[in-house]
Amino acid sequence: KKNIAVMTSGGDSPGMNAVVRAVVRTAIYLGCNAYCVYEGYEGLVRGGKYIKQMGWEDVRGYLSEGGTLIGTARCMAFFEREGRLQAAKNMVLNGIDALIICGGDGSLTGADRFRSEWPSLLEELVSKGDLDQKQIEPYKHLNIVGLVGSIDNDLSGTDATIGAYSALSRICEMVDYIEATASSHSRAFVIEVMGRHCGWLALMAAVATGADFLFIPEKPREDNWKEEMCQVIKQHRNMGKRKTIVIIAEGALDKHGNKISPSMVKDLLADKEGLGLDTRITTLGHVQRGGSAVAYDRMLGTLQGVEAVKAVLEATPETETCFIAITENKITRKPLMAAVKETKEVAKLIEAQRFNEAMALRDTE
Ligand code: ATP
Repeated sequence: KKNIAVMTSGGDSPGMNAVVRAVVRTAIYLGCNAYCVYEGYEGLVRGGKYIKQMGWEDVRGYLSEGGTLIGTARCMAFFEREGRLQAAKNMVLNGIDALIICGGDGSLTGADRFRSEWPSLLEELVSKGDLDQKQIEPYKHLNIVGLVGSIDNDLSGTDATIGAYSALSRICEMVDYIEATASSHSRAFVIEVMGRHCGWLALMAAVATGADFLFIPEKPREDNWKEEMCQVIKQHRNMGKRKTIVIIAEGALDKHGNKISPSMVKDLLADKEGLGLDTRITTLGHVQRGGSAVAYDRMLGTLQGVEAVKAVLEATPETETCFIAITENKITRKPLMAAVKETKEVAKLIEAQRFNEAMALRDTE
């Protein structure tokens, strides 16, 4: 009987609970034992009460809960070999054959590193006398599958990450609230949304709320952005619009790589010599992560959780580590490291202001 463990790691995202529920129940349904590792890699390093066998009813009610009920953490120890040795030891002591990890590109990089080091970690544990040869025998091959939980929708190779549509819905809801007060007072609002390297949330929110102007990292503004913005907003105002909404992603830049901040935009809109609008800034912050998952993320988390268990059971020692993607509405398995590498390259290209190359890379399958 295989022992399959699931963990959530990195930043929390709505839909992670659907993943945990689906993995636990699919594992049990397919005749395996299901485990949860609490607090991400921290729990794996600490072991003991952080690794817990789960029953069918332990995940009851998980679908409608926000965040991640099994906890998540950023774990410094797992960056060090010593931490990963401890984690490997705890896996063997708890008899875990396979690990399903739901997190962002950092968590998935850690997962790949763990799997590639696995044989040498076991060898070292034996040579140090922490484990004996007989104990490690059944665990020669570590089986790992990744699921992408992130509100940013920033991972290459998948159309949507678990949590992105929930965050987008939350942003739209908040913009609607702001619009009501903006209209009443004829005000302008500069709304900052999450996204350092990826403007998906900001772009889709602007489309879905009919915002007046938008700033995202991938499309840096030209030198004349101030005039352009003022002209567009003036035109909208002349057409009778009583509210102005400007959406700005955290990582917004001009074409020279200088950050465009909400206060710069606010000062411009409020400038008495120009538009002279009564302008406020709203930073949405962590409400974007909060609340329960929308139907799409519950569905995605569930379908991908089921697929992850199947992938674990079908894997052989030769199988490349995969993650579960959604491509053109189909749940698919893809090589993990290629996607993580590409995601990091896109972020680097954006940082280096090589935007066209970044976009071309992101668009490849
Ligand atoms: P988010 O998208 O919210 O940032 P993430 O999964 O990318 O999520 P990180 O903080 O980058 O979040 O990573 C989560 C954890 O994964 C780290 O705290 C660390 O324990 C582990 N991890 C990340 N990168 C590595 C690595 N290169 N080697 C080992 N472990 C890593």
